[in-house]
Amino acid sequence: MAELAQVIVDVPTLQTNRPYTYQIPERLENQVQVGMRVIVPFGNGHRKVQGFIVGLDQPSDYDGHLKKITALMDLTPVVNSEMLALSKWLADQTYSFWISCLYTMLPNALKAKSTRVVRIIDDIDENDRQLLFNNVDQLDYASVQDHPELVSRLLKLRRQGKVSFEYQVNDRARVKTAVQIEPALSFEQYENLRDGIRSNAKNQLRLVNYLQTIIGKKVLLKEARQSTGLSAAPFTQAIKKGWIKSTNVEVYRQPIGADIQDQAARNPLQLNSDQQTALDQVTDAIDQGHNQVFLLEGVTGSGKTEVYLQAMSRALKNGKTALLMVPEISLTPQIVSRVRARFGSQVAVLHSGLSAGERYDEWRRIERGEARVVVGARSAIFAPLDNLGIIIMDEEHETSYKQDDTPRYHAREVAKWRAHYHQAPLLLGSATPSLESYSRAMAGNYQLLRLPHRVNQKPLPPIDVVDMRPEVQRRGETSFSSELLTALKDRLAKHEQSILMLNRRGFSSFIMCRDCGFVLKCPNCDISLTMHLDSHTMKCHYCGHEEPIPNICPNCHSRHIRYYGTGTEKVMAELQHLMPEARIIRMDVDTTRRKGMHQKLLQQFGDGQADILLGTQMIAKGLDFPNVTLVGVLNADTGLDLPDFRASERTFDLLSQVSGRAGRAQKNGQVFIQTFNPDNYVIKLVQKHNYQQFFNTEMQIRQMASYPPYYYTVRIMGSHREERVAAKMMYDIRQELGNQLASDTIILGPTPRAIARLKDRYYYQIVIKYRHDNKLHELLTQIMQESQNKYQRGAELSIDPEPQYFL
Ligand code: ADP
Ligand code: ZN
Ligand code: ZN
Repeated sequence: MAELAQVIVDVPTLQTNRPYTYQIPERLENQVQVGMRVIVPFGNGHRKVQGFIVGLDQPSDYDGHLKKITALMDLTPVVNSEMLALSKWLADQTYSFWISCLYTMLPNALKAKSTRVVRIIDDIDENDRQLLFNNVDQLDYASVQDHPELVSRLLKLRRQGKVSFEYQVNDRARVKTAVQIEPALSFEQYENLRDGIRSNAKNQLRLVNYLQTIIGKKVLLKEARQSTGLSAAPFTQAIKKGWIKSTNVEVYRQPIGADIQDQAARNPLQLNSDQQTALDQVTDAIDQGHNQVFLLEGVTGSGKTEVYLQAMSRALKNGKTALLMVPEISLTPQIVSRVRARFGSQVAVLHSGLSAGERYDEWRRIERGEARVVVGARSAIFAPLDNLGIIIMDEEHETSYKQDDTPRYHAREVAKWRAHYHQAPLLLGSATPSLESYSRAMAGNYQLLRLPHRVNQKPLPPIDVVDMRPEVQRRGETSFSSELLTALKDRLAKHEQSILMLNRRGFSSFIMCRDCGFVLKCPNCDISLTMHLDSHTMKCHYCGHEEPIPNICPNCHSRHIRYYGTGTEKVMAELQHLMPEARIIRMDVDTTRRKGMHQKLLQQFGDGQADILLGTQMIAKGLDFPNVTLVGVLNADTGLDLPDFRASERTFDLLSQVSGRAGRAQKNGQVFIQTFNPDNYVIKLVQKHNYQQFFNTEMQIRQMASYPPYYYTVRIMGSHREERVAAKMMYDIRQELGNQLASDTIILGPTPRAIARLKDRYYYQIVIKYRHDNKLHELLTQIMQESQNKYQRGAELSIDPEPQYFL
């Protein structure tokens, strides 16, 4: 029997990937398993922390002074052996700590939060007991910490040895329960009962009648009340009288929209020959358990989703499970409803819009094998599916698959790891694959599958590029060219729908003084504040800082302070003015902040309650509305000139995606792209629907500049509230890297980050570009480990492999 456990502890200020050894107390010996969470003492004093058991040993040379595990938090392991191995690998790959990787994999509800409590350990004065402790044995320190007189009283008691200050770990996982009832009597007994009930006791009679219909069944009280229309009171009385047995049972929370299914998608479609060819290769790999990576390059509307569905169905038929990754669920509710329609209650959906409880419930359904199909955004890659038969990643080029917070993992890399673990194929799909994936496919590392045409021989919509320069000269500042306006009016007359995208990356709707050029910036970040008309405030999109919209320039007191850039609100107002009869839905961060609003607005648009959907990038992806025949991009340029080598790739993706929303069904589509750079190669190639040529052109640029996919990149970033400390730390690291690296490895920096100050911290970065470097990984791991003690208090270091943004 194991008597020692290896535990990864959760101590924020001192993290290490080395497990600590704890003794297993006798009473727990038969219960302890790898993958369970435990509470253990840590350091001196009474501090208790949470940890994960990552190994069990026979005692060997330990000297008997090991601390003991205080308590087990789980009855069964919350991480299985796959997840344990994955978390360890992930920590290594992303230069992060094992514990944070473990937490990342689990639903929030299982994450520990520790509270500081004060506990009575000896007799105390009655007055104190009443005043301080409200007559109970312990109090939450947070509730008194702002009252100095109470705190000093408590400190005095501690000095006298009467109370102790402790940390307690709260387990926030809450299983939702509901009351379930079942008839306690037989049919005849209820008959007899009925005879004794007064005829005007209608509720009792109704209840008894009902109970007779459910004999031998168990029913949730909630449902019983719905069926009978009775309040809770008659049931409670019946339970007391012994007519009904009641128990508390575990139930799952139903997320909003869980019942929405796209009925048209219930049955598999007859595939066209391109789809069939692609599917056949994937199903071969599923059947044979081939760990192969496929890249499905299919133009918008080519029927990729149907290929996904049928591939998943094959995996299920083989007794396995399937995982479908999508970039952002709230933006693409349609794909979820198709999956639900096809696979029904076997589907679990994981995304950030769920409450902690809902997410926990979905997670448990997966873990218990009740849900065998999972659809989800980035973190769903950690869904505890057993026996995976296929992993699919839709829109594999999307940057939202990369987490830009620690652990900085890319879901695609995790998907590769898991597919390999399960010996299953990985299917990556996109209309505009990432350069990384496409070059791998070109090199033969991935198997390329192509769907070059839309289903039903529909052509891709023709794209008109509208030069806005003469337009603005002629008509003054406007968001709508006359071509686009004419087309919008035409669609309105024909009762067809239009989608308008306002590319809102970068600095839109900021305020500038016309006299002195002053721009209103966030006091905490080097970012201009964005104007929000609905709340009449200026907001920082990074730290949340908020202030009133100024009427005069804070710098020169001029009244000529005005708004620049275009926000959706402003465009909405302009459009409503130009087309007063059009019904417009606006979709942006403001109109979709409330839970479920994305879905609601899209549903309204799908139901034909509006003529025009006006939105930011969030409307570009995945929407499949048959009545949409016109797409307009109001400002294609924003984003093109950001200081980021992926700016062109992103613009190409975005414009191709949004163009793909037009003309997907019977009616032909049309796209207008408004731009101030009509000769830019990105815009020209979008117009030609030519991904291949874009790939070739962009690859040449990447090669010349030594960027991915020719080179790998890693970014080291240091921050501190004082600029000089952040800079010094990064110069020290530059020194440490020294000349230990490979000769073709390129080190850039340290430089201040493009946004040098954020949330009142200064940022400095080093970017390393490399091809093969034997030393680099080890060196960076070491730098990360050391950083906890080496640098000044308050300094933070992060290492980001393959960052998606360099801003
Ligand atoms: P993509 O994901 O490639 O953009 P979708 O999978 O959304 O394309 O398919 C576009 C439309 O074509 C959807 O409405 C879908 O139901 C339909 N479709 C897909 N495959 C077929 C098929 N084989 N036969 C008929 N319609 C299809
Ligand atoms: Zn001014
Ligand atoms: Zn800010």
